[in-house]
Amino acid sequence: MKVFKTLATVLAVGAMALTASTAVFARDKGQIGIAMPTQSSLRWISDGNELKAALEGKGYTVDLQYAEDDIPNQLAQIENMVTKGVKALVVASIDGTTLSAVLQQAADAGIKVIAYDRLIHDTANVDYYTTFDNFRVGVLQANSILKGLGYPEKQGPFNIELFGGSPDDNNAFFFYDGAMSVFQPLIDSGVLVVKSGQQGMDTVGTLRWDGAVAQARMDNILSANYSDGSRVDAVLSPYDGLSRGIISSLRGIGYGSADQPRPIISGQDAEAPSVKAIIAGEQYSTVYKDTRELARVTGDLVDTVLSGGTPEGSDTTTYNNGVKVVPSILLTPYEVDKSNYRELVIDSGYLKPEDVQ
Ligand code: BGC
Repeated sequence: MKVFKTLATVLAVGAMALTASTAVFARDKGQIGIAMPTQSSLRWISDGNELKAALEGKGYTVDLQYAEDDIPNQLAQIENMVTKGVKALVVASIDGTTLSAVLQQAADAGIKVIAYDRLIHDTANVDYYTTFDNFRVGVLQANSILKGLGYPEKQGPFNIELFGGSPDDNNAFFFYDGAMSVFQPLIDSGVLVVKSGQQGMDTVGTLRWDGAVAQARMDNILSANYSDGSRVDAVLSPYDGLSRGIISSLRGIGYGSADQPRPIISGQDAEAPSVKAIIAGEQYSTVYKDTRELARVTGDLVDTVLSGGTPEGSDTTTYNNGVKVVPSILLTPYEVDKSNYRELVIDSGYLKPEDVQ
């Protein structure tokens, strides 16, 4: 009996040891460095959390860092990750042109590099790019503005002002070009009028996607071009944080009253305060990009690449980073307005009902 008990104990302990070592093995696939731009925008916080969870679920440990939109800070964080010997870097860059030197160090150390959401420029040392169809984002924003204006039933002319994203973020050009592919013919035919005359990313870009910068520019546009009693009918805004700044500026001079209705304003990211603004009729629309899916797809890609595989279904034509075309996985963005926010943003679990109350 005693022998049996001892044997049983030995077997049980052995089994436990085996389970433990399997578990340790499963959990020990190495560390992944995630470099995110900023916590000042809700989307990047959720991207970071989702990506960390996806990678941990696959047995990796994760070093997740935010750089608060400070370029040297992000560089230092990535250098540190390289020194620590991470197996892969997932980088949502602040300025996509400043990482060439550190990514050379990463390549020399055999570290795989994934550009996350934003393309990294001027280096051969970026293996893959995961993002959304960024040109399509701009097309959705422009079409949504036209819908809000009631075009083509209403023929205008409509006064519109244009905002772009940060000129050091490659995405900003795709968003703007996508929107202008819809707007430019209507500007040429006189349906849309840019009263300020300000067009082109070199003029309408908003450094670091800063809402306060957009607000100040809107203030200037309004006082210089709309003091004659004319009104702004629409504003192209590429990101919810900019839309909120633009709305504050408009509110400051009385837009939002019965005799001065709010312009139609676009956005991006389906951030909770902006979905609230859409429900309240202050912002017309946003673009929803399911960043949970981006995180999941990126987690799968990292695992495939580190296991020696080749990810399937990548786009090999669209994203040239100045040195090479980076194979890209492009996910689908969706236009969201008052009519469909519940279905797309709440029912999908992206935001909770209480987030937008
Ligand atoms: C992202 C957008 C975001 C913007 C500002 C872009 O690179 O693709 O989703 O609105 O950065 O954070």
